[in-house]
Amino acid sequence: MIENITRVPTTKRDNAFLIEENDGYTLVDVGWASAPKVIEEFLGSLKDIRRVVITHAHPDHVKGLAELKERTGATVHIHADDAPWLQAGRVPTEGRAGALGRVVDRLPLAHWTSVTPDERVEDGDLIGNLRVIHTPGHTPGHIALLHEPTRALLVGDLVFNRGDLGIGPAAMAADPGRRPESLARLPQDVSAVGLAHGDPLIGSATARFRALLADTGSGGS
Ligand SMILES: [Zn+2]
Ligand SMILES: [Zn+2]
Repeated sequence: MIENITRVPTTKRDNAFLIEENDGYTLVDVGWASAPKVIEEFLGSLKDIRRVVITHAHPDHVKGLAELKERTGATVHIHADDAPWLQAGRVPTEGRAGALGRVVDRLPLAHWTSVTPDERVEDGDLIGNLRVIHTPGHTPGHIALLHEPTRALLVGDLVFNRGDLGIGPAAMAADPGRRPESLARLPQDVSAVGLAHGDPLIGSATARFRALLADTGSGGS
């Protein structure tokens, strides 16, 4: 996507990101159960993955995590407010604002193998070169990550690119009313925006991201 940051499409819709650090890779998000195999084929080997940072505990981001952690010994980093979900192996009933989300969370497909994180992170923490920005709403412990050397921003599920940029359906979020204030916490002077779902915005295309932030701000919650 940009120097030292590689997007790994783990399905047609889902992205993980590899950050090159001095000691190996930081992986941001994993994906569904098939993702470790996809990432292994992409990299040739999983052996250089040192850390996995999870933007939030939803199945499309963590279902492959237990296998990846077991095969690599990588440390797992997640915000303290999503750590209980990661350990529970599912999104709790109160984790979605709408009935649709709660129906999805009852399906076995939406459950994952419990993982105990090695580090519970907070707003402002630094993981390698990634600065943690706490952005609750989609989940209580959702985080965005700013790669400080390049000012590339990874936004997880705070922003979706499905042709149009948007913040996704309220029913699938834990507390949708908090999303605008979380968007307002993001830096605007970024070189690229990596999204967990959809194509990244690079260079001049980041204007679309700033326009979304401006719209959401003026629209209120
Ligand atoms: Zn999500
Ligand atoms: Zn997602």
